[in-house]
Amino acid sequence: MIKLKLPALALGLSCLAATACDKSEADSVTPDTTTSTGTTSVTSVVQAKYTSAVTISTSGSSITLKSNGTPDHPTPYYATTNPLWEAQRTGYTLNPGTVGVQNYSMTIPTEPAAAATKEATALGPIGMALNGVAIYNDQEGGNKALDTGVIGSFDRAGAHPGPGNTYHYHVAGDFTTKDDANLVGFLRDGFPIYGRKDKDGTYPANLDAYGGHTGSTTEFASGIYHYHCSNVNYLSTGVYVLKSGSYYGTKGTFTF
Ligand SMILES: [Zn+2]
Ligand SMILES: [Zn+2]
Repeated sequence: MIKLKLPALALGLSCLAATACDKSEADSVTPDTTTSTGTTSVTSVVQAKYTSAVTISTSGSSITLKSNGTPDHPTPYYATTNPLWEAQRTGYTLNPGTVGVQNYSMTIPTEPAAAATKEATALGPIGMALNGVAIYNDQEGGNKALDTGVIGSFDRAGAHPGPGNTYHYHVAGDFTTKDDANLVGFLRDGFPIYGRKDKDGTYPANLDAYGGHTGSTTEFASGIYHYHCSNVNYLSTGVYVLKSGSYYGTKGTFTF
């Protein structure tokens, strides 16, 4: 073995141009194949599926999505003078906030990959819906889990404003996903999040601890790791949390 290693070391530089050596090096760093996006790139889906309210740019291995975070659908959290204002649902109340114009900028990788160490999602934006609205997890201020009081402030989009009038989705709603296989948006680690169903109309039975799995979706026909909206009737309130727990990949930045 030693005899074989020495010549290999001596040939180190020439290896850079040798196909055989390149291949073995590439193999050693090949990302987890379960995150493969096949022939469909994340960039192409992001560009095709986000609305014109979201400005998309790419640089190297990252994609940056910018939006003002305001919804393109009705909500009681708009001012009554706004054409998109509607009354709050019967039995629900409004929190003190309104829809505020933000300066969101989310950066995700063009090739999302599983993280070796999974990081918990935290309070604040964990992703961006296709219309530029922020996606939050199942926590409210003080890192407390959503309770019935907070849920009582949601509009029919499953959203409400937080401090700084940051309007955000916590749960499935009328304009993102309702018991379907809709693409909701992307989380900060670059993986897409879908509704409660897979594209074949069934509820996925093999979700991992992060609420996702690898499989074919409408947008990524050859398969990709993707999150699903929770299929649990949260606190028996009839709402379904979009995402809780840890990221599967490594989160990018989200500034505002
Ligand atoms: Zn909230
Ligand atoms: Zn799925």
